[in-house]
Amino acid sequence: MKIGVISADVAGEGRVALTPDAVKKLRKLGFEVIIESGAGQAAYYADELYQAAGADIANNSAEVVAQSQIITVVHDLSADLIDRLTEGQIVIGMLDPYRNAQLDTYAAKGATVFAMELLPRTLSRAQNMDVLSSQANLAGYKAVLLAANEYSRPFPMFMTSAGTVKPAKVVILGVGVAGLQAIATAKRLGAVVEASDLRPSAKEQVESLGGKWLDVPMSDEEAEKAKSTGGYAWTPSEQYMKDQAVVVDKALSQADIVITTAQIPGRQAPRLVHKATLEKMKAGSVLIDMAASTGGNVEGTVADEIVTTDSGVRIVGAANIPSMLAAQSSDLYANNLVNFISTLVATEADVEGTVAASELALNLDMDDEIQGALAVTHEGQVRLAKR
Ligand code: NAD
Repeated sequence: MKIGVISADVAGEGRVALTPDAVKKLRKLGFEVIIESGAGQAAYYADELYQAAGADIANNSAEVVAQSQIITVVHDLSADLIDRLTEGQIVIGMLDPYRNAQLDTYAAKGATVFAMELLPRTLSRAQNMDVLSSQANLAGYKAVLLAANEYSRPFPMFMTSAGTVKPAKVVILGVGVAGLQAIATAKRLGAVVEASDLRPSAKEQVESLGGKWLDVPMSDEEAEKAKSTGGYAWTPSEQYMKDQAVVVDKALSQADIVITTAQIPGRQAPRLVHKATLEKMKAGSVLIDMAASTGGNVEGTVADEIVTTDSGVRIVGAANIPSMLAAQSSDLYANNLVNFISTLVATEADVEGTVAASELALNLDMDDEIQGALAVTHEGQVRLAKR
């Protein structure tokens, strides 16, 4: 059974779906692998490394599609490649399912499409397939480095004979996977960190990393709601958003660096920083808006651009931070994919864990809680529930 790798055909995307190491793992599982020439180049994986790992190199993406049973990609296939799909082919990627306008076309082609973002994250056997976490963790780290680069003062406190340098004040809004890594990284660089999230359970995590929790008042009813969602984001009331804006306003008027990470899966990102607050921030302060690709948490964010406000505050619309760490992000993404792909086949391994290619059999099962959650098209149907 052949697995194909297509180049990420998106401007500024450096990641690749499978790395040479992932190819070795898949070969051991009994798969053959074919990769579009140059697909790994931006992540520093040359064709020769794939060949050495046992992959074939294809001249172009159409050749990969023509030969593969399973096609892996970072984001999505182009309309032209979808047109080349034949019934029963499988596509796996981060397909942005709720905004993907191509699902009907995939379904009409009879392809089974798995959108990795839809993984049931609380399921422990799914954790090694969690692409949102693997990419957000790296992005949270890199966001702090981006901020440090843009900021015209240092992060740590220095006592020098020319005077004392105060530590930077960093505020993190949204403390999921990316936010927690941002706190840890900013602390390592010597900053003073404050953080907030609408999940009250995040307070303990913030404090365990040495950050100060910014508390937004919550009604008893909302506290109940927050608890009943098991720690996942709940929909806040208008009153909560107003109270949050007051807390954010106060914290940001003192801040040097702000990193916003708040996302709502399948929806527009919540607006957490308003123009009135930006006007109170210090000149030279820097905001990294990690939700830029879904509309931004900060008023005035432009994806992939740095906007400087009239008062000298810089808003970095960081739409694709994982791609800035393309090699490492690809390693982790590829591991997530290999772990998922290995659940799609029924295999008999020998004592050394190697599977003969002839023993591989596809085992698609929409009743399986992982496959069923990820499959957005199967057997001619779009299976994605509306949000
Ligand atoms: P995310 O990227 O969807 O959002 C980032 C953060 O923004 C979340 O913590 C969310 O609560 C917060 N947020 C959303 N709207 C907000 C608003 N209006 N105001 C303030 N904050 C807001 O989230 P994520 O990082 O992918 O993960 C979310 C949660 O899921 C975290 O608790 C994470 O630890 C948890 N998680 C659990 C598992 C697991 O159980 N195995 C795996 C991954 C993540």
